[in-house]
Amino acid sequence: LFLTFEGIDGSGKSTQARRLAEALTELGHQVILTREPGGSPGAEEIRRLVLEGEPDRWSAETEILLFTAARRDHLERTILPALEAGKIVICDRFADSTRMYQGLSRGDLRQLVDQLHKLMIGREPDITLLIDMDPETGLSRAKGRQGTEERFEDFGPELQRKMRAGFLELAQEFPDRFHVVDGNRDADRVAQDVSDIVLRELRS
Ligand code: C5P
Repeated sequence: LFLTFEGIDGSGKSTQARRLAEALTELGHQVILTREPGGSPGAEEIRRLVLEGEPDRWSAETEILLFTAARRDHLERTILPALEAGKIVICDRFADSTRMYQGLSRGDLRQLVDQLHKLMIGREPDITLLIDMDPETGLSRAKGRQGTEERFEDFGPELQRKMRAGFLELAQEFPDRFHVVDGNRDADRVAQDVSDIVLRELRS
């Protein structure tokens, strides 16, 4: 089973991914928790190339190529081997983030993202948990973290709102795999909803 978490910066998805991994491990499942960009040694190197340094170091198109290269490596080295070994793979961000960040926020490049995805990745998650979050709250949470991690772009409130709307539209585009969870509640409630959804899917 291949599960991904998506959402705007500051949505709490990384916390939720970790908590789900812990909950499933306790139930006796073999779980791998991984993240994008990154998740394999080569892809982590590409992460540094993309997320560190000047924000305009790469054109949007080059950036899509770098993210796709990182994802391909991550898929080959980490995700597919784990799935073949019968493990549950939980990934913090995947192709939907590229559809949103490179495809939407940096211009109208969604088609290019999708074409490259089809050509080089061709795999969608079985379940995607979208942690939906009020854009202002997400922004202030993400800003509070600034300096602790590489930053990518300086997101203003308007872009944050556009991204949130974009993610919700994506959920409608892929209704079979998307589950929208209200992230504007305490982390325990969110974690409970997430594990209910995943356990239901595991049983079906
Ligand atoms: O999820 P995480 O906070 O680790 O993401 C790191 C940064 O990379 C975020 O600021 C996010 O905006 C950016 N990112 C991106 N394009 C992606 C994935 C992440 O710009 N495809």
